[in-house]
Amino acid sequence: MTLRLHDARRGGLHPFTPIGERPSVGLYVCGVTPYDTGHIGHAFTYVSFDVLHRYLEYLGHEVTYVQNLTDVDDDMLRKARETGENYLELGNRHVTTFLTEMAALNWLPPNHYPRATEHIPQMLELIGALVDKGLAYAAEGNVFFSIAADPDYGQLSKLSPDEMLPIANERGNDPTMAGKRDPLDFVLWQRSLPDEPAWPSPWGPGRPGWHIECSAMAMAYLGTRFEIHGGGGDLLFPHHESELAQSEHATGDRPAVGWWTHAGMLSYEGHKMSKSLGNLVLVRDLLCTYPGDAIRHYLVSHHYRSEVEFKADDLDAAADAAALLRQACLRADELAESGVTAAQSEEVAAHRRAFLAAMDDDLDTPRAMPELAALARLALESELPAVAVEAGQAVVELGGRILGLRLAPHAEAVSASNAA
Ligand SMILES: [Zn+2]
Repeated sequence: MTLRLHDARRGGLHPFTPIGERPSVGLYVCGVTPYDTGHIGHAFTYVSFDVLHRYLEYLGHEVTYVQNLTDVDDDMLRKARETGENYLELGNRHVTTFLTEMAALNWLPPNHYPRATEHIPQMLELIGALVDKGLAYAAEGNVFFSIAADPDYGQLSKLSPDEMLPIANERGNDPTMAGKRDPLDFVLWQRSLPDEPAWPSPWGPGRPGWHIECSAMAMAYLGTRFEIHGGGGDLLFPHHESELAQSEHATGDRPAVGWWTHAGMLSYEGHKMSKSLGNLVLVRDLLCTYPGDAIRHYLVSHHYRSEVEFKADDLDAAADAAALLRQACLRADELAESGVTAAQSEEVAAHRRAFLAAMDDDLDTPRAMPELAALARLALESELPAVAVEAGQAVVELGGRILGLRLAPHAEAVSASNAA
């Protein structure tokens, strides 16, 4: 079996094979804009890509995982203005909280954790290349990407221009910005307001647009072509659509990304979890009640691309399910020493095969996890001989490591050494 992963650009699942020149697989995931506390929807995205990271490593790939920090953008500056705090201090405070929460969820930290403010020269270089090629224009101290100059714009989201504008406007686009030729033209560089940070540029002092930040940071660490680009489903358009357009036109190397993958969105009480609706379930609140393994088990029991309706009761069931796996891994006493049958050995092997086959199928964790639960129940059966129990435990531990569950002391030791 080969891992097949969903790619939004081509549509459907495609067998995973490295595409770059590098010895490692490149994985870039859009990170947080650190202006507020993290909610369970963010955790679903980052835990989902953590499972992908872990599974790629299980398959023998070396992975270079990059997750950025959008530490300067409209939201950061608005919140800093509201709280009277410096935007970088505001960001640092929330980044610390985010990393603490993700560590509690047994997240393997990225290899690189770049900040937008530390990559302004790379952004200016990309913007310059787009202006030189006639894909971008300067006006009123701003620089815009011209949608009219790119007939491929829309290849990722498959949206028509009429469908694009309302979504773009909802997600940060200002259609009335000074100098725009088309309301959908997106900002690459913008003139800063008097109380905003500003960097020098050939088009006047200003700050970068949101989309160009990720193009520059991905390229800085992974080159002009890499394997997997991820993020939450609400980033598909306009963020990733625009990133794709910028990156491919600036360098001419395409496809810039082999697999564009997106995690589903969480809703609560019938609505997408959002700050404006006030229906956020915060990770820090859940961690007061549930162990990290219970939350992690709950998250990975949903397919990463599915839309999830959060129900608190589901966490109780997840806590029980995680406890069953742990209990099975810890069992070491009162086992018969011999007498394993061929049927018992085959049963363990069949669950292992089924677990890995489900993971190969676009990380189908809801189909994979019952295999571990079945093995855990088997390992807890009183009449099973030691060798069969140990074989079952080994598979449960392997599954736990791939899914990022801290099950047995052995599994925790592996996670701790990976995190160090
Ligand atoms: Zn991004």
